[in-house]
Amino acid sequence: MPSSREPFLTAKLQGFGTTIFAEMSALAVATDSVNLGQGFPDTDGPREVLDAAIAAINGGLNQYPPGPGMPVLRQAIAAHQQRFYGLTYDPDREVLVTAGATEALAGALLGLLDTGDEVVLFEPMYDSYQACIALAGAVAKPVTLRPPAYGFELAELKAAITPKTKLLLVNTPHNPTGKVLSRDEMLQIAELAIEHDLIVLTDEVYEHLTFDGAQHIAMATLPGMRERVLSISSGGKTFNTTGWKVGWLCGPPALVAAARTAKQFLTYVNAAPFQPAIAAGLQLPDSYFRNFGTDLQAKRDRLLPGLHEAGFEVYPTSGTYFVTVDIRPLRADGDGLAFCRELPGRCGVVAIPNEVFYANKHEGRHLVRFAFCKRFEVLDEAVSRLKTLA
Ligand code: PMP
Ligand code: GLN
Repeated sequence: MPSSREPFLTAKLQGFGTTIFAEMSALAVATDSVNLGQGFPDTDGPREVLDAAIAAINGGLNQYPPGPGMPVLRQAIAAHQQRFYGLTYDPDREVLVTAGATEALAGALLGLLDTGDEVVLFEPMYDSYQACIALAGAVAKPVTLRPPAYGFELAELKAAITPKTKLLLVNTPHNPTGKVLSRDEMLQIAELAIEHDLIVLTDEVYEHLTFDGAQHIAMATLPGMRERVLSISSGGKTFNTTGWKVGWLCGPPALVAAARTAKQFLTYVNAAPFQPAIAAGLQLPDSYFRNFGTDLQAKRDRLLPGLHEAGFEVYPTSGTYFVTVDIRPLRADGDGLAFCRELPGRCGVVAIPNEVFYANKHEGRHLVRFAFCKRFEVLDEAVSRLKTLA
């Protein structure tokens, strides 16, 4: 007999369902497809990082580490911020280790937001943003970025800010579009944040994955911003260890303390043996970080012409693992969700419908994301399969 309590899912999460990444990766396995959906690399990261994790396990680092993260990792994160951005953070009070960037986002949003607070953010957006804002009882106010350049209209951004706005959430380099915000765009956002006394949460997980000389600018480096920015990143993207789920956030003590308070009750502590390993990665020489972006750029340059030849309209991407295409040349009704659900059966390739990254679904209905963080032969195989669609 159905319970009168159904549906059991909290009203806050109605409509969120199962993430598209779970659905599409399961479909990829079930159909033996080339998975260019969920963004994860298919090669291992640096040997030093992998060996450091093995050594940590063999060395007995297998029990609860300190809640805010192991000192060796917090120090390495602070040194990384200093080396790449000239930002000084106190490893004890201004750095927090989390279960991936996902928990950093959750901890910050749950720790900072009250019921009814508004968060201004750009869409398309990484899918956990809306869910965490909803869990906090707060309200997402999206400003739409449109192809091909995916810039924002300053008037739209200004109009989205109201007296209830507490926080701006900015992701650069941007998933799913590959947009890297320019200094001018960042300055415009910073100016509004200062004018309205807003906290700025920056998702910088792809900070080292930029192409063609595009530079990632850390929001906290802009004048007046260090004191109001919580910046988030993740070892998963930088060291090809997405399954380890080691992330972090940095910011002024009071903002970090708010995120830490929530984080304590989410996971309490994270992955002990992976923490010194990510610390080892963060200490790799500059050449590692430079070559990492160059390698990924070559993969982008392998996939994009193939997508074009397969018939898609392909938009430029200056960073991240991803490229967005318009499917309408291949599917006149522009139904990206149906296209992605059918694609494995039609030609054995998995992609992600960008619709899931929008609150205003119609804006992304005809757009689809492919990941290029794969070996050349995998990208080539995907392209030859996609070419059979036309
Ligand atoms: N933010 C963005 C923009 C991402 O693409 C990802 C990747 N899944 C995350 C956050 C989450 O990172 P993590 O796997 O470290 O939780
Ligand atoms: N960041 C990756 C992506 O956007 C992985 C997402 C996930 O597994 N939740 O595809």
